[in-house]
Amino acid sequence: MDQSKKKKNLEQLSPEAIYVTQHCGTEPPFSGKYNSFYEDGLYLCAVCDHLLFDSKDKFDSGSGWPSFFDEAVELEKISDSSHGMQRIELRCPVCHAHLGHVFTDGPKPTGLRYCINSLSLKFQTR
Ligand SMILES: [Zn+2]
Repeated sequence: MDQSKKKKNLEQLSPEAIYVTQHCGTEPPFSGKYNSFYEDGLYLCAVCDHLLFDSKDKFDSGSGWPSFFDEAVELEKISDSSHGMQRIELRCPVCHAHLGHVFTDGPKPTGLRYCINSLSLKFQTR
């Protein structure tokens, strides 16, 4: 995306959201505003407003972070071996903001668990 637009959008984010989306940070579990949030709508990238997840794919994983069993669009996936773990990092396909990680212990039908920071998301009603 346009770098000046991205810079402008970043200026609207909280320091915590900058830390998570730009420096691969993680919000404390059960702290995020979308952890126990189940309204019908769409989840957009907090930085660039690109569609990422649909509320119909959200479920309560008990992990303390918003969890989805599918993505609404093809997300960017990066192999991450930090913190002594082999994980798949998820990023926004447009602005490359860090979103969270995807694990293979999710529910049917996908068996996937997209573990996402609330600070990386922006909810929008349909
Ligand atoms: Zn984005």
